[in-house]
Amino acid sequence: MCRKTCRHWDPTLPVIYVITPTYARPVQKAELTRLSHTLMLVTNLHWIVVEDAVRKSSLVESLLMRTALNYTHLNAPTPDIHKRKASVRGVEQRNTAIKWLRNNKNSEVDNGVVYFADDDNSYTLEVFEEMRKTIEVSVWPVGLVGGLMVEKPLLNTTTGRVIGWNSAWRPDRPFPIDMAGFAVNLGHLLRHPKVEFLFNISGGFQESVFLQQLTTTERLEPKADNCTKVLVWHTRTESPKLTEENKLRKLGKQSDKGMEI
Ligand code: UDP
Ligand code: MN
Repeated sequence: MCRKTCRHWDPTLPVIYVITPTYARPVQKAELTRLSHTLMLVTNLHWIVVEDAVRKSSLVESLLMRTALNYTHLNAPTPDIHKRKASVRGVEQRNTAIKWLRNNKNSEVDNGVVYFADDDNSYTLEVFEEMRKTIEVSVWPVGLVGGLMVEKPLLNTTTGRVIGWNSAWRPDRPFPIDMAGFAVNLGHLLRHPKVEFLFNISGGFQESVFLQQLTTTERLEPKADNCTKVLVWHTRTESPKLTEENKLRKLGKQSDKGMEI
């Protein structure tokens, strides 16, 4: 249910469960602030934030408390043996959130949709309304990913169903689509109790291996005006240059003393 302060709530509409893995770094608070402000404008949204950390941080905790969002704050460190592999970013955290949904939601009564939203992407409000009515698995284009301006499903114009993809990078992937380009109905996910993200698969195949367990290309529900619009971008934030800060630290000083950045 909605927290008292929650601004947008309509009990007749499905809830969107947004799952966001996040990790400590200089831009973390900026990323989460920006994303939270987008999510605060969406009706019936429940934000599941999973920190890649041994314990929950006060930075994330207080940021979540200040939002007018329904949220669940979890933590799950990436196991050491998998650290530093790009292909496993967010795997442990997304699985922890899925487990939380399995333990706390019921496919018979809870009407919702699950979306995996990384903390650094750029989201329109429209993308959430597009995904809200997902019956099983819905898909749409994602901007600035896969080495292209847009990676998108290709539709049969007569049937309106997905028949292929425009991807250029590893087009042999079963579902050559970014994490930001699909949503899964909550009941559908709960009715597949074994589905999860896996550690031992090569980069770029996370989405494919996950979706193969839930759907087929023919069953996909295309959104965003028959996949003609970009409503989400796979933006990536440049790491800030902290050369002067590092010099200060060598002298035992820091610019952010007593401040949370
Ligand atoms: N992430 C994480 N731990 C890490 C690296 C990334 O939890 O060690 C999170 C990150 O905050 C983001 C998601 O996993 O929400 C995907 O990571 P990233 O945006 O770096 O991946 P890319 O943009 O390269 O797909
Ligand atoms: Mn990213």
